[in-house]
Amino acid sequence: MPAELSLESKDRLWSRWIRLRARDRFGSVKCVTCSAVVPWKQIQCGHFIPRGYLNTRFDPDNCHPQCHSCNVFQNGNLKFYRIFLNNLKAGLPEELEKRSKDGPTYEPDWSIVSSEVKAWIKSNGA
Ligand SMILES: [Zn+2]
Repeated sequence: MPAELSLESKDRLWSRWIRLRARDRFGSVKCVTCSAVVPWKQIQCGHFIPRGYLNTRFDPDNCHPQCHSCNVFQNGNLKFYRIFLNNLKAGLPEELEKRSKDGPTYEPDWSIVSSEVKAWIKSNGA
């Protein structure tokens, strides 16, 4: 694996990691904002704080599976995204808003992310 991945490669890998880790044994994933159940290949990685904020672009607290309708047509369905995050941890939306501006920048270990994605895809027969 190359020492430095492009931002596009990181986005692609990160999206797979977020979607695959949330899949059930049938390979389906639930949208966090409308509860639609969608095959992992079709669901998307929805960012609560937009991707333009690099500090939280790869922050697992900020990234959760969302269906195309919520992520794209409803621009993240943020009212329900906020409720979902607050249920995970009270005050998380405000924490993420602060983190996105003040840091620190969250950067996962890409070699771990990459090997987990490979293993998950293999185990799911996808
Ligand atoms: Zn949805």
